Amino acid sequence: MTLKIGVIGAGAIGEDHTRRCMQVVSGAEIVAITDVNLARAREVADKYAPDAKVPESGEALIALPEVEAIIVTSWGGTHAQYVLEALKHGKYVFCEKPLATEAEDCRKIVETEAALGRRLVQVGFMRPYDSGYRALKKLIDAGEIGEVLMVHAAHRNARVGENYTIQMSVTDTLVHELDVFRWMLADDYVSAQVVFPRRTSKALPHMRDPQIIMLETRKGIRIDVEVFVNCQYGYDIKCAVVGELGEAILPLPAAVEVRKSAKQSCEIMTDWKDRFIAAYDVELQDFVDGVKAGKLNGATSWDGYCASVAADVCVKAQESGRIEPITMMDRPAFYDR
Ligand code: NAP
Repeated sequence: MTLKIGVIGAGAIGEDHTRRCMQVVSGAEIVAITDVNLARAREVADKYAPDAKVPESGEALIALPEVEAIIVTSWGGTHAQYVLEALKHGKYVFCEKPLATEAEDCRKIVETEAALGRRLVQVGFMRPYDSGYRALKKLIDAGEIGEVLMVHAAHRNARVGENYTIQMSVTDTLVHELDVFRWMLADDYVSAQVVFPRRTSKALPHMRDPQIIMLETRKGIRIDVEVFVNCQYGYDIKCAVVGELGEAILPLPAAVEVRKSAKQSCEIMTDWKDRFIAAYDVELQDFVDGVKAGKLNGATSWDGYCASVAADVCVKAQESGRIEPITMMDRPAFYDR
C-alpha cells in the first residue's frame, strides 16, 4: 500500500521532504502540495511529483479525501493551526520542528491529541534517528559508562544570515540539543542558565556569540551546550557524555583522513543538511511505516511541548543572566514512556 501524503509549505525543507518521499522513502507518494506562494508549490510539484494537486490552502489540502497523512513544513508560526486542523480530520501529521512557536499552542495540541486517544502527530526532531546518537544512547542504556553525571556539547555553524537573531540561537539551533538530550537521557530539564564568553569579532552587530547554555535535569545531570554560530570553520556538532565509569563521545561523521606533507587532515562539513541527511531519510521512512502500522515512533507532541517550554526559558535566561526554573504541565498519562 502506498501512503498518500500532502505537503504544506514548499520552502527549503518542504522541497527536500517532497524529493525524499518521492525518491528515497519506500511506500509513499506526494499527492498534494501547497504554500502561500502557489506558484512555488507548483514548481516543487513539477520537479518531483508532477501529478500532485496544488490546493489553494493548507486547510483545503488537509480536507482532500485522498490525503491520508500531512507533512507540515511551512513557517513555524503556522504549524499549530495545521496540526490542529489535521487532528480535527483524524489524519496523521508529521510536523517539522517547532510543533508550535508558543508553548500554549503546543499544550493545546497535546490536550487535543490526548483527548482523541490516538497518537497522530510526529514532530520533526531528526537527531534521535542519527546513527551516532543512537549508538551513544544504546551504550548509555546498557550501563557501559555507569550513571550519567555530565554532558558537554557544542553546536557550531560556520556563519548565519543577517536575519538570524539571538532568540533563534535557541529556537532554531539549541532546540535540537534540547530535544535529543531529553531522549538520550530519558530525563527532563529543571533549570537553565545562559552565560556569554568573550564576543567573537565575527558576530553580526546585533548578536552576542558564542554563548554557553547550562541545563540541569531532574536526575541532577548537568549539561553545558556551547552555541557558536559564527565559528567560521564549519558545521560541527559535538557531544561527550561523562558517567561514573567512563566517557562516551558522539562519533564524528565519516571523512577520509589525508596524510601529506608532514600533515594529517580530514574535511569538516559546512552544511547542516549534509550532516544529518541520513537521519532525515530514516526519520521519514519511520513516519510512513508508523502510519501504516498505526503506531508512530518518533518525537511526540509531548516532546514538542517540552522542547518549546525549555526553549522559552532559555530565551528568558539569555536576557536575565539568572538560573531560571523550567516547569512543565503534568504529562498526560497518554504520553507515558
Ligand atoms: P522556508 O524555506 O522559509 O520555507 C517555508 C515555506 O512555507 C515558504 O515557502 C513560505 O512561504 C511557506 N509558508 C509560510 N506561511 C505559510 C502558510 N501559512 N501556509 C503555507 N505555506 C506557508 O523555511 P524552511 O527552512 O523550509 O523551514 C520550514 C520549517 O521547517 C521551519 O519550521 C523550520 O524550523 C523547519 N526546519 C527543520 C529542520 C530540521 O532540521 N528538522 C531543518 C530546516 C527547517 P513564504 O516564503 O512566501 O513566506
